[in-house]
Amino acid sequence: MQLTYTNTAEYSQIIDDLRKSFTNNLTKSLSYRKRQLRQLYKLLEENEDEICDALYKDLRRPKTETMIGEISWCKKESLDAIENLDGWSKPEYVKVGIAHALNGCHIRREPAGTVLIIGAWNYPVLLLLAPFIGAISAGCTVILKPSEVPDNTSATLTKLISKYLDQNAYRVVNGGSEETMELLQFRFDHIFYTGSGRVGKIIMTEAAKHLTPVTLELGGKSPAIIAKDADIPIVARRLIWGKTFNCGQTCVAPDYIICERSVQEALIKEFPRVIKEFLGENPQKSKDYSRIINQKQFDRLNNMLKKTSGKIIYGGITDRDELYISPTIVSDVTEDDELMQHEIFGPIFPIMVVNDLEEALEFVRSRDIPLAIYPFSRSDKTIQHVLDNTRSGATVINDCLMQASVMTLPFGGQGHSGMGSYRGKRSYDVFTHERSVMNTPYFFEKFIGFRYPPYTQRNDKI
Ligand code: NAD
Repeated sequence: MQLTYTNTAEYSQIIDDLRKSFTNNLTKSLSYRKRQLRQLYKLLEENEDEICDALYKDLRRPKTETMIGEISWCKKESLDAIENLDGWSKPEYVKVGIAHALNGCHIRREPAGTVLIIGAWNYPVLLLLAPFIGAISAGCTVILKPSEVPDNTSATLTKLISKYLDQNAYRVVNGGSEETMELLQFRFDHIFYTGSGRVGKIIMTEAAKHLTPVTLELGGKSPAIIAKDADIPIVARRLIWGKTFNCGQTCVAPDYIICERSVQEALIKEFPRVIKEFLGENPQKSKDYSRIINQKQFDRLNNMLKKTSGKIIYGGITDRDELYISPTIVSDVTEDDELMQHEIFGPIFPIMVVNDLEEALEFVRSRDIPLAIYPFSRSDKTIQHVLDNTRSGATVINDCLMQASVMTLPFGGQGHSGMGSYRGKRSYDVFTHERSVMNTPYFFEKFIGFRYPPYTQRNDKI
């Protein structure tokens, strides 16, 4: 399906229309929001195959991975929002001292306004719809800007969103980086961006011109720290799954392994066995293994492989015509290796050897704060030590990726891996303004008259 870019000359009208709908309270009632959330659920339920087919065309991704990694999570999130919206939106009466006991002090939860959500290409459904669910729940009017890279999926979503959801409140705008820059010249009440840190800085700079708050869901190099006592066969299965799911094009994929030499030796014996078990002798023939999204990304990964000074101990097979890169294990990479300079975002797994756990933690601390850290050990003490001596958006002990499946855990980074978090109720909170309300009835006048001038010493005791 062809993705058509929205004419940039229409932006102003689209945004005006959405602002009017917001000002006219179209999206404010809870019944309206729930109706739209039900429509979103229906969109996913009724068009599962079409969405999975689009992702197959874009990434050759197996249906199971699209169901696990995108559609089921979005469905669960919409149901959760429908079920809990009444509770989330209730006014919250706050504790006050005796002096304000009769002021009815409370927090009124209000939609942020007209907001912009910019999605990334690697999970184009989840990364657009999960924040969208938060914005609908909060009562915002929304512009969605899907990534232009997975054109089949973005075209499919554009068609379906305009069919299922109210166009007076929610509009999809398509375009590449130049068009997104034009869009960013308009004022929004919140911008929610998922993608690279490089573009995250551009988004934040443009948002600052209007003092627009931002949520930035970025990437980075998430290490798997393997202690000497780890269960190597289990580590190998869990890490290869995490690295090959969506062909490694996952923001929370384990990026590299850091461990002692004896652990590296054990892992490089185990990894080939696990890759063969999961994807067969030739993963290129496996129906369960995705492709790289496009030639630009393929070339980037291929160049990394050409430049590495590590040892390719398994894989390293590439086919540009098919955008295929086999699961590849590279041992003995050093700190200055090409594979250690940028987020890999592909099925290449470097292993860096250190002398001990302390050296591993020191290395991780010396880098930007990662989106995730994956420590593997049988010892609670070791795990606690890793938690106490590192920082990261999330930590999954003895596993990877699965933090994203728990919507009550905040999903987000820190520092270069992002700003703010979302999922479940937190997505609602992102797009909600907490408005303080306090009521001072006229009859209070006789109790509060002492605060007015002319002041006497009695005023000091207020
Ligand atoms: P990207 O930054 O290239 O693109 C993301 C969005 O930004 C797209 O909608 C694109 O149109 C827009 N964009 C691109 N260039 C722009 C520019 N110059 N000005 C304005 N807008 C622009 O990112 P990507 O390649 O799509 O995604 C890969 C990165 O995203 C990786 O670093 C990955 O880790 C990160 N990521 C993070 C999460 C998360 O939830 N934290 C999820 C997925 C991906």
